[in-house]
Amino acid sequence: MEKVLAKWWEPTDNQKILCTLCPRYCKIGDGQPGFCYIRQNHGGNLYTIGYGKPTGFAIDPIEKKPLNHFLPGTSILSFGTAGCNLGCKFCQNWSMSKAKLDDMNSLTVSPEGVVELAKSYNTPSIAFTYNDPTIFGEYVIDISKISREEGIKSVMVTAGYIDKEARKDVYKFIDAANVDLKGFTEKFYWKSTISHLDDVLDTLIWLKNDTDVWFEITTLLIPDENDSEEEIKRESNWILTNLGDSIPLHFTAFHPDFKMLNKERTPEKTLITARNIATEMGIKFCYVGNVHNKEGQTTYCPNCKAILIKRDWHSVISNKMSSGCCKSCGYKIDGVFNN
Ligand code: SF4
Repeated sequence: MEKVLAKWWEPTDNQKILCTLCPRYCKIGDGQPGFCYIRQNHGGNLYTIGYGKPTGFAIDPIEKKPLNHFLPGTSILSFGTAGCNLGCKFCQNWSMSKAKLDDMNSLTVSPEGVVELAKSYNTPSIAFTYNDPTIFGEYVIDISKISREEGIKSVMVTAGYIDKEARKDVYKFIDAANVDLKGFTEKFYWKSTISHLDDVLDTLIWLKNDTDVWFEITTLLIPDENDSEEEIKRESNWILTNLGDSIPLHFTAFHPDFKMLNKERTPEKTLITARNIATEMGIKFCYVGNVHNKEGQTTYCPNCKAILIKRDWHSVISNKMSSGCCKSCGYKIDGVFNN
């Protein structure tokens, strides 16, 4: 595949290129990559060298993204590329996000080829995931446009660190997203991810107010870093005030990885405490992840408390929804449901 010219950039006065895809706004010299590695200046043009270069495909349960209120119990064709626009010290997927394309033996697959693959595996949706799909936005747009025509849904699994203008293009044909809200202090964001909290909050508000994208939020809780009760309360309060009470919130367990090997795995008790706080404050759908905890992974009807969807880890054990509503009392559950 030919090198693909990138969108979202402009030349600067000093022979560099300003990439305007994400709030990092890299200034990139000739022959150099941006922070995310897969956007590169060659001869005064910016190229997206991740275009058409997945590192491989998997068929995942959609609960793994995690999405609990979007086509529950279905499979999703999932892929990412090399590179990432964040610098998370705790990255749980760093072999891909920190890799160069050559290290990954990347495949070459056209947008049509990705959609054909989803059709051949009969998955109702495609996930752009593993690294942050923001950085291969051009490929996302081309795939999601075709997949919408074919009746296949598209899902972003992202940190939400994207420019205000570029996001209007990247999310044009997106149906759902899981956004990592990595913590709730600017100090943690900058120190541990080299990005800014306010930009992510702005994306969440935009998704809620200006798009039809169904989205859920995930916070990976890291011991003594972003797991204090006070921080969970402030995060929950912000969600309730700015996004309402119906956006599912997932608290997931960290395992020591990449540059955070000195930390313990998140105790299950921390996740349960966080879930209890968020639920007591009024968040209707709060889940725990990366542990076996049936109660924390079950969807309950907020009205009559009936069990609607029972899960264990990423598996759906039973589903008692009816046309997107509680079978017992008829209460409408927020989300996109297949029964
Ligand atoms: S998308 Fe990549 S090159 Fe562009 S500003 Fe963000 S990190 Fe830099």
